[in-house]
Amino acid sequence: MSARALFASDLHLTPDRPDGTARFHYFIEHTAGAAGALYLLGDVFEAWVGDDDLASPFNADIVAALRRLSDHGVRVWFLPGNRDFLVGSAFARAAGLSLLDDPTRIDLFGAPTLLTHGDALCTDDLAYQAFRRQCRDPAWQRAALARPLAERHALARAMRAQSERIKADNTPEIMDVNADAVARALRDHDVRRMIHGHTHRPARHTLVVDGQPRERWVLPAWYQGGGYLCCDEGGCELLTLP
Ligand code: MN
Repeated sequence: MSARALFASDLHLTPDRPDGTARFHYFIEHTAGAAGALYLLGDVFEAWVGDDDLASPFNADIVAALRRLSDHGVRVWFLPGNRDFLVGSAFARAAGLSLLDDPTRIDLFGAPTLLTHGDALCTDDLAYQAFRRQCRDPAWQRAALARPLAERHALARAMRAQSERIKADNTPEIMDVNADAVARALRDHDVRRMIHGHTHRPARHTLVVDGQPRERWVLPAWYQGGGYLCCDEGGCELLTLP
């Protein structure tokens, strides 16, 4: 197995953006196949309304590509984001991947590393956090999944429109991670390194918590270009797609 792990998030795949879908297929066929592991850290899909939507031609293509990758020997992990938190075990089986809780602590080449989508760190956005608590509630999810598929697609569209309005009303600072929430997560999980997406602000941030140097990697969105984080024994590096 190749001693490289790749991390990507915020692909926001949708039939409405064929160029993004083409980048995903290129990445799976030409980049990810040489890695030992691929970690998808949320918002891979612009919207996932339930595993009973696996059969749509668009979703079936994505799932088949992920399946080929895992059949090829790459271990694939999926940590759901705020757009695809309704993925379930049928999706995981079909795509040949394993679902991760948010957050998850892994041993990355000997370095304890915290993986999270990132939205839970945006604690300054109180309205969003209230919404997040609601839609992560199992009872809310059961009720949502009991509605007809077409109704869920309409609901997802309405939620995206609402999210665009909130984004337009908020300052960029409110939409970013909260420094105390980051420090708390690093301390509580006893890690020197954190990897997340969601904010679409790719960077490597260094900080000191409790006298120890730590780092926070932020993954890029795939709206234009896109990219991923590549880690091996020597460390991590943010790379852009060709
Ligand atoms: Mn997100």
